[in-house]
Amino acid sequence: AKRRGPRTSRLFEPDMMSKSMERTRLIAEMAPALARGEFHLVYQPVVDLSRGGRVVGAEALLRWRHPRSGMIPPDLFIPLAEESGQILAIGDWVLRTACHDVATRLHRGWPIDFDLHVNVSVRQLIQSGFVETVEAALASSGLPADNLTLEITESSLATDGLLASDALTRLRDLGARVAIDDFGTGYSSLSYLTSLPFDGLKIDRSFINGMTENGQARTIVHSIVGIARSFDVHLVAEGVETPEQAAALRDLGCERAQGYLFGRPVPLDDWTDPAHR
Ligand code: C2E
Ligand code: CA
Ligand code: CA
Ligand code: CA
Repeated sequence: AKRRGPRTSRLFEPDMMSKSMERTRLIAEMAPALARGEFHLVYQPVVDLSRGGRVVGAEALLRWRHPRSGMIPPDLFIPLAEESGQILAIGDWVLRTACHDVATRLHRGWPIDFDLHVNVSVRQLIQSGFVETVEAALASSGLPADNLTLEITESSLATDGLLASDALTRLRDLGARVAIDDFGTGYSSLSYLTSLPFDGLKIDRSFINGMTENGQARTIVHSIVGIARSFDVHLVAEGVETPEQAAALRDLGCERAQGYLFGRPVPLDDWTDPAHR
């Protein structure tokens, strides 16, 4: 993105104008893109640091390969999909595809406790019928509910937490799990943790980034490990890029991790059986 000058009062900025046209164009192209198969999923391994980096699961991440514009980053198109409501159709596709992809691998003998993580936007979660959508994705794929973790960002829970909590409870009744994503970045108070049902936390990448150079980031990670322990929930550190970060996490007692150090997100077809890595 281009940097804007300090404080401008111009009404029509060419830059802003083209940005909003670009957004409008992307929104209009999303539904046809879904129908034409321009979306696909890549999967990033989740490893267990206490078991020599064994792969214990994967996070599904959405990609949009646009025929003319190339790869459009999810940080750009997902907010647009949320605003325009198209995240409902796209999210439904993501759930069905991811459950199906992993269920096929389980049939081929992948570890039965393999954890599939799927990102869910709060717009989806608070939509009536969402729990039924998850149920249908599980039923049609044959994926057992306890192989599925839905990730929901902490910042979105800040605004819609109360509405979401009913859906979260029903998802857990199904046997699926819920993890709070980007933990540590989105809330000013942690009191919501006592009222929202959840099974896991994901430490935001920004804390992992700084933890080997910066004592404060390390202290925060240490506190999050303590929170996960006291709530007796799973913990995954994301964005682990160096062996030093992995070692520091292991020292602090964070068992699960994800990041370029262990593997970039790639299509599941490019994976080898995690049991034989
Ligand atoms: P997220 O859920 O926090 O996903 C982690 C992001 O960090 C991914 O970016 C991943 O590729 C990236 N990443 C993983 N390891 C490393 C690392 O070691 N270093 C660095 N620098 N980055 C790493 P990605 O794939 O671009 O996704 C961005 C965001 O888009 C996701 O953040 C998530 O919020 C959203 N997203 C992706 N797929 C979906 C989806 O299917 N549904 C919804 N609602 N949101 C999605
Ligand atoms: Ca995530
Ligand atoms: Ca995250
Ligand atoms: Ca994120």
